[in-house]
Amino acid sequence: MLNSTFNFSFNSPTPTHAITTALTDKSTVSVYMKRDDLIHPFISGNKWRKLKYIFENMLRNDQHTVVTFGGAWSNHLLATACAGAIFKIRTIGFVRGEEQVSNPVLNLCKLYGMELNYVDRSAYRDKKALFDSWKLSNLNAKAVFVDEGGAHPLALIGCEEIIEEIKATGQEFDHIFCACGTGTTLAGLAKGIAEHEIKTRLHGVPVLAGGDFIGDTVRELYPDGLFELHTAYHFGGYAKTKPELLDFIRDFVSKSGILIEPVYTGKLMYAVNQLIEQNFFAENDKILVLHTGGMTGILGMHELF
Ligand SMILES: *Cc1c(COP(=O)(O)O)cnc(C)c1O
Repeated sequence: MLNSTFNFSFNSPTPTHAITTALTDKSTVSVYMKRDDLIHPFISGNKWRKLKYIFENMLRNDQHTVVTFGGAWSNHLLATACAGAIFKIRTIGFVRGEEQVSNPVLNLCKLYGMELNYVDRSAYRDKKALFDSWKLSNLNAKAVFVDEGGAHPLALIGCEEIIEEIKATGQEFDHIFCACGTGTTLAGLAKGIAEHEIKTRLHGVPVLAGGDFIGDTVRELYPDGLFELHTAYHFGGYAKTKPELLDFIRDFVSKSGILIEPVYTGKLMYAVNQLIEQNFFAENDKILVLHTGGMTGILGMHELF
């Protein structure tokens, strides 16, 4: 149950837009994009889907501090900072990095009131220890731990709602694709598809090298999920790019008017495009791509511009 005092929905349900490219013009498949990037400029996409029930649960339990973690360009840190300001939750962010970095994303986090702590990579590895020591010096805070990327059991419920929203429109898709970092979003979609008995094949595109681990994460979070992983589209690893990815993004953005970026949604669309080219899909298949948002990371991608 949602607390009606708060607008937990922002701009959801999100719209679904048809996407045409040179390739879809030549093919019988059709591609659609569910625009979770339009939920909110800075609490965008799957980050809000994941935080929604974590925050709702915190407010219900009178917990008003969240301690969380991320890299210097983390979409999750910014989403948490901004949502924290809206829902009156104090936000503490541990930033992975050797020194006090400064960039537009962290500046926005600070502007929204997040208290940033910079820790080196070895300290960052033990997030629970960082949380425990923060709690020891803030005993009255009733702080809640939220892992990097918003990975949390309650995050699944919010992601499952993506499937509910699709079902409510009456539209049916043969395939749903999403980009994977931790695999939490994919697990939520798998749960939604299984529990709503929808006949859609679910696909994940890991954005990190060695993406098979995503499969284990998803099975841990939701053992009954069915999904396929396409692990060949990481372009060298997390936040790594190659000229052909950047060229693809430039072409897609200028021709569709929809912003995608090199870390997640660019790799996702590239993968879908390649699969169309390789005749992976059956004739007349309808493909839904989830735009998971996170557009601020693009500000640090100087090689794109
Ligand atoms: C964090 C993020 C993801 C990864 O989601 P997981 O649930 O961690 O797999 C995908 N896309 C965008 C834009 C993100 O910011």
